[in-house]
Amino acid sequence: MISFVGAGPGNVDLITVKGRQVLEEGDIIIYAGSLVSKEHLKFCKDDSKIYNSASMTLEEVIEVMKKAVEGNKKVVRLHTGDPTIYGAIREQIDELDKLNIEYEVIPGVSSFTAACASIKREFTLPNISQTIILTRIEGRTPVPEGEDLEDLAKHNASMAIFLSVQEIDRVVEKLAKGYGSYDIPVAIVYKASWEDEETLFGTLEDIGQKVKEKGINKMAQILVGNFIKGDYERSKLYDPSFSHKFRSASK
Ligand code: SAH
Repeated sequence: MISFVGAGPGNVDLITVKGRQVLEEGDIIIYAGSLVSKEHLKFCKDDSKIYNSASMTLEEVIEVMKKAVEGNKKVVRLHTGDPTIYGAIREQIDELDKLNIEYEVIPGVSSFTAACASIKREFTLPNISQTIILTRIEGRTPVPEGEDLEDLAKHNASMAIFLSVQEIDRVVEKLAKGYGSYDIPVAIVYKASWEDEETLFGTLEDIGQKVKEKGINKMAQILVGNFIKGDYERSKLYDPSFSHKFRSASK
């Protein structure tokens, strides 16, 4: 059995209880060493075998999995955040299907929610946005047509932009074009939930400068939208004059 596990954003206690349990029982651990905290490995069995996938190809990862399963070993494939977002798990899953190897996927706390927690905000405010766009700028990996940041910004939705802080100037230009303004709140969260986490606040006008001053060029979320700063209406859910299935309106 192969368990794809979300390790969470960094802090070792932000893995799920289920994920930790599987990690404790794993015989073979393949972890994404560039982003997953090594602290997770202290929960593994003493005799577990640990691979860092940072220096491995897909073929090598699959080979390790295949041999392990042949030897009746439990494999944990530890991905950063939630494995279903920029995890490159689909290509592994498809290879496992071809080999008739069983697997499960255990979700994790993604860095986009961890980043929003760090700045103590809520993505979905009633009259501001009820939609969150998770995306990245195109780089060496392109994005499909219609998903350019400029087009996405036109929706005025709350945004969490992954894998892009090293390109902050291009990000800002595209967003400003889409929003039609530089006066849009932005927060940068570097290494959300790690001990050396940093947060920066600004607008499309000045955030590029701030990011460069701090020298942030990797492992950051770019959060964008009016959910970060400004007025909003309170929610109907907790409004005394609004009744719903679990509470009738007060008289
Ligand atoms: N599956 C992961 C994302 C992997 S892609 C998840 O759900 O979070 C890697 C990108 O995720 C990084 O470039 C960065 O944008 C973001 N990221 C990962 N960990 C982060 C953290 N602790 N703080 C801020 N951003 C992080």
